[in-house]
Amino acid sequence: RTPLTSIIAFVETLEDGAIDDPENNRRFLGVIRRNAERMHTLISDLLELSLIESGNISLEKVQVRLASMVADVFDTLSAKAAERQINLRNLVLPADPGRLEQMLTNLVDNGIKFNKTGGFVEVSFKKTPARGIICVADSGDGITGEHLDRIFERFYRLDRGRTRQEGGTGLGLAIVKHLARLHGGEISVSSELGKGTVFSIELPNE
Ligand code: ADP
Repeated sequence: RTPLTSIIAFVETLEDGAIDDPENNRRFLGVIRRNAERMHTLISDLLELSLIESGNISLEKVQVRLASMVADVFDTLSAKAAERQINLRNLVLPADPGRLEQMLTNLVDNGIKFNKTGGFVEVSFKKTPARGIICVADSGDGITGEHLDRIFERFYRLDRGRTRQEGGTGLGLAIVKHLARLHGGEISVSSELGKGTVFSIELPNE
């Protein structure tokens, strides 16, 4: 039955005398209101769909911050989720927030320092049942294999001239590595000369 059939039936029942029945009159009004709401949603969905299908909708694309948008959507739907005891998870993983921020700041800072003008640093996140993996990728010069194994050592720096200019201590990656391990995780790096470098922090999900 459509919501309208219900609405008409219950209005008729009320008109036929149920309006004076204190046991049922409010309940019937409640049924009418709920069905009117369903009808309202149905009509606006139908209008929306026909608008989209008619091809009269144009998108205005901008760069969207996915994590904060998902947080907004979760805020809107949090009451509904709570009613059904659904756990809404927005890219969460167990970590010490201050320490995680320290790790990410170090990696993004390196990605900026050892990059070329006009390059990029991109942070992405993926999750497997057991682990969360945060990747910090940059479009810098990259690091050759011989250095790659050693950059997590304290005071190890590739290009003395350039790194001195950038003013780092040579301790950043050693700190990041220790903090990742302290979380029960690990940091790894892969790099392609001339293309860039990707650091991946893997943290356990519990
Ligand atoms: P710092 O940045 O203070 O020099 P780090 O421990 O953070 O020390 O890094 C050690 C060295 O590893 C850097 O001096 C640099 O030579 C190299 N390195 C780190 N991150 C990158 C990167 N994203 N691209 C290229 N080289 C990097």
